[in-house]
Amino acid sequence: MIMSHGPLHGKHALVTGGGRGIGSAIAHALLLQDARVTLAGRTEAVLAKTASELATALANASGPADIDFVTIDVADRESVDLALAEAARRHGRIDILVNNAGQAASAPFGKTGSDIWRQMMAVNLDGTYHCIQAALPGMLAAGWGRIINIASTAGLTGYAYVSAYCAAKHGVIGLTRSLALELATKGITVNAVCPGYTETDIVRDAIANIMAKTGRSEEQARAELAAGNPQKQLIQPDQVADAVAWLCQPGAGAMTGQSLAVAGGEIM
Ligand code: NAP
Repeated sequence: MIMSHGPLHGKHALVTGGGRGIGSAIAHALLLQDARVTLAGRTEAVLAKTASELATALANASGPADIDFVTIDVADRESVDLALAEAARRHGRIDILVNNAGQAASAPFGKTGSDIWRQMMAVNLDGTYHCIQAALPGMLAAGWGRIINIASTAGLTGYAYVSAYCAAKHGVIGLTRSLALELATKGITVNAVCPGYTETDIVRDAIANIMAKTGRSEEQARAELAAGNPQKQLIQPDQVADAVAWLCQPGAGAMTGQSLAVAGGEIM
């Protein structure tokens, strides 16, 4: 019998924030390309449910899809080191790291206290730094790796009332560019994927917030968020995931230091 393998066969991918939203769509896309996937997030029950659903949905003749999970708080370096070491112990060196865990707080700058500021930096920027620090030695030893940072269009341009989130995501893109240069001759690429408003819990919360603060209907609130997108629609998680999966393929080896906007033409 001829067994055909996907382009990521034999590669171990770790996706932070993989339990829901964009992260679970990325896990799905990487599994379809035949990677082994570890989901990492804070909520064990959510991770277990998503892992089991993906394993069943993508089962084939050789059995359930190759997926596992570890708990992690990306803001905490010790938690990151433990979680990535455990993932590597179970499934081998991490070849593909997707830094997707993130949080988006909105507030006018005058009401952005140091608690909001610190939280946005800790999860979105420090979290990315911590995970790369933990995964990179294995990639360097192997001479191959893919690091994909899920930034945002907020990493490429400014938006009112999300200054801390914007600053953190701009930081993620700066880190992506610098590290891409440092690793350019090591077989490791580093890229950012920058979604526009994408239909996940973050956006559902934003819609609820707009409705509560302005009295607008759900349809009006949704249209307001989609208005900045020239295609006049919210991005779907699988559209972001497909860009990530492509960047992981061997054929994308010359793509590094880039920030790919998946935003219906909002950013050019
Ligand atoms: P989401 O549905 O709210 O999911 C966020 C994920 O991050 C969850 O799985 C959450 O899991 C995890 N997470 C949050 N804090 C964490 C922490 N300290 N440690 C570990 N995991 C943590 O968000 P999403 O919309 O899928 O967003 C995913 C990424 O895309 C984020 O980086 C976000 O900034 C970016 N993005 C989203 C949009 C959008 O419109 N949705 C647009 C641009 C960029 P637990 O709560 O279980 O830990």
